[in-house]
Amino acid sequence: MVYLKTVEATGFKSFADKTTVMFDEGVTAIIGPNGSGKSNITDAIKWVLGEQSAKSLRGGKMEDIIFSGAKDRNATNYAEVTLTIDNHERNLSIDADIVAITRKLYRSGDSEYLVNKQKVRLKDITELFLDSGLGRDAFSIISQGKVDQVLNAKPIERRQLIEEAAGVLKYKKRKVETEHK
Ligand code: ATP
Ligand code: MG
Repeated sequence: MVYLKTVEATGFKSFADKTTVMFDEGVTAIIGPNGSGKSNITDAIKWVLGEQSAKSLRGGKMEDIIFSGAKDRNATNYAEVTLTIDNHERNLSIDADIVAITRKLYRSGDSEYLVNKQKVRLKDITELFLDSGLGRDAFSIISQGKVDQVLNAKPIERRQLIEEAAGVLKYKKRKVETEHK
């Protein structure tokens, strides 16, 4: 299993200052009033894992994820989120006990991804998480409405879900890449 240890967000949505959320093995419940930022935490996780759709992050354009200011605070000019993942069992193919994944986006549109502080491409992140159960499209993140979507899914979509759970996506993706070479 891949365990998420912490999510650190700075300038991401409602988290103007650096905010750290800690998770433990087992169940972690995040509670709070409406609008206090609970869903923003799952958005932050999806974003680091490479989410490219602003709509999936409940915004209109990607810049909307950058803190836009509050009564007593100016907007920030970048958003940065880091996930730290327990990799003692080497489920991610990186030879390190702790893996830190960072995504940063500036208002200018510049962005970067880092794995353990080294710059990487989005493709590297996607591949790292394929079949780990924690990818950006993985069903480990079940947002509001997702349950209905699964129940109403077409057979082919349901098959994709089962394939992801069985861990065959990595091989399918490589097959397609090979066929296009
Ligand atoms: P609910 O219980 O209603 O689901 P929640 O705790 O999940 O609430 P979120 O949706 O995570 O709440 O947070 C919504 C809050 O985040 C709103 O107050 C919104 O103004 C704020 N927010 C979203 N994007 C930004 C941004 N870019 N800058 C500043 N604040 C933002
Ligand atoms: Mg919510």
